Amino acid sequence: MANVDFDFDSLREAATDVLESAAQGVNRIAMENLEFVKGFTRMCNDGWLQGWHERNGGNLTYRMTDEDVAAARPFFDAKPREWVEMGVTGENLAGSFFLSTGSGKYMRNVTEDPAHNIGIVEINETGTAYRIVWGLLDGAKPTSEFPSHFMNHSVRVAATDGADRVIYHAHTPGIIEMSFIVPLTDRDFTRRLWQMMTECVVVFPAGVGVVPWMVPGGPAIAEATSNLMKTYSTAVWAHHGLFAAGPDFDTTFGLAHTVEKAAALYVAARAANGGSEDWLNKIEDKGLVDTCRDFNIAINQAFVD
Ligand SMILES: [Zn+2]
Repeated sequence: MANVDFDFDSLREAATDVLESAAQGVNRIAMENLEFVKGFTRMCNDGWLQGWHERNGGNLTYRMTDEDVAAARPFFDAKPREWVEMGVTGENLAGSFFLSTGSGKYMRNVTEDPAHNIGIVEINETGTAYRIVWGLLDGAKPTSEFPSHFMNHSVRVAATDGADRVIYHAHTPGIIEMSFIVPLTDRDFTRRLWQMMTECVVVFPAGVGVVPWMVPGGPAIAEATSNLMKTYSTAVWAHHGLFAAGPDFDTTFGLAHTVEKAAALYVAARAANGGSEDWLNKIEDKGLVDTCRDFNIAINQAFVD
């Protein structure tokens, strides 16, 4: 009988490795099939299909519900990563969990490989730092606009009594085009967008805020945007794109889609009109006010004459 020399330790180690990586694969699939993760990845892809996310442009964050956290927790990393100070504070978000796109990641890749392109972060008990608990594999970080998103979540939670959960930033071409030819004020942008399409005043009756061109990614643009988001659920970033907030993925994407469509209509109508804003026909202010009255919506009176 041959003398076979089994190395049981190596065999056991190899078997454990195989089982561990199989378990990781199964966990990843289970995680990526949770409803809020599917909604999130679908929205990333929706924006990509609209042409709003060239290269690593745009970002998305979602404030998870307690139910989302309970469903996702079994798949969290065994050991969370280090706490990272954000440079901004959101006391009303202490202990919250967010799903976020990754810094430098491409929206077009999110659906293919969520675990490398998005991740869940936990906020500390003072609302000043985050740590990654799932996803963002191989050293990835949350979007560089995370401080902006975080401050805006904080403002929107206060403004909507906790209803708003989604913050979305996209490089919407119509809005960028408008920022070359329309004065950079809330009133100038809002009136023109409302007048483009009957639906607009119903979808964003408060109007839109406008942030002049600023360096992205820092606390200054975060603060300027969050000041506007106390009043509006959408802010224009001049020569950059759009910032939108809402209670869920459908409403937030729908809001960005409506604003951007109106902006594209404005640019096209103005070009077709020889560059002039002297329209032959348009929705009058009385029409905007009457629409809101009939839909039982409070229009922002500051923007109608
Ligand atoms: Zn951007």
